[in-house]
Amino acid sequence: MSIPYGELVTVTPYASYVLQDNPGLMTLEGTNTWLLRAPGADRTILVDPGQNDAHPNEMSHLEAVLNAAGEIAAIVLTHGHFDHGEIAQQVRDRTGAPIRAIDPDLCVGAPALTDGEIIDSAGLKIQVWATPGHSSDSASFVIDDFGGHGGAVLTGDTVLGRGTTVVAYPDGDLGSYLASLRRLRELGDLTVLPGHGPVLQHAPEVVQFYLDHREQRLQQVRDALQVLGPDAGSMDVVRHVYTDVDEALWPFADLSVQAQLAYLRDETR
Ligand SMILES: [Zn+2]
Repeated sequence: MSIPYGELVTVTPYASYVLQDNPGLMTLEGTNTWLLRAPGADRTILVDPGQNDAHPNEMSHLEAVLNAAGEIAAIVLTHGHFDHGEIAQQVRDRTGAPIRAIDPDLCVGAPALTDGEIIDSAGLKIQVWATPGHSSDSASFVIDDFGGHGGAVLTGDTVLGRGTTVVAYPDGDLGSYLASLRRLRELGDLTVLPGHGPVLQHAPEVVQFYLDHREQRLQQVRDALQVLGPDAGSMDVVRHVYTDVDEALWPFADLSVQAQLAYLRDETR
């Protein structure tokens, strides 16, 4: 089956996405640009518009998103990494919609998002959860339920549709990340709408898998330090621990290991 780049894919009556053709080690098949709108509502909340196209001659992601979205009430970012928000300003230029994110420096025409805020728009009540860890400005967006269609949580890069995410040290922080996951684990049985990769059911189980994975990796790093000595470099730890991971991913694993070493230093202080 071919990957439906540029097509609008409906997941629930209130959430659809357009997949950007920007596959990569960190983006999986590409960035999921989410469109949130209740049936009958006249405007859309656009989450993570995406990045500039790598192949300018092909269909533009920007045009695909604008065609699918109709009138846009607000552009909202799960975090500031370029594969999520690089073309936010272009969407604003075309539509006049404000840009909102946890990081005030990313916002245009509206204030920063705050933890616990409810975005009451597009016929939906969307709760903002600050979920730092992957990056310091990561947010998740929770829709508890809509008209019996079940709830959903948009997780950006905090929880991906496949594999695990990178704690992008030094902006990313493992202690914050674990705390965010523990918070997300308390969600109801929502559908996970990730920033990359496929939609997942049963948010608490998905989050528990992430927590277990992190705990397992931490123990592997502790064990590696026993062997390598407490002053081992992060790449030495990567070579020791990440033997099950493609070497192409080791530079990213290195960021996560640096985050884990910083976490363990804090733990023993
Ligand atoms: Zn990211």
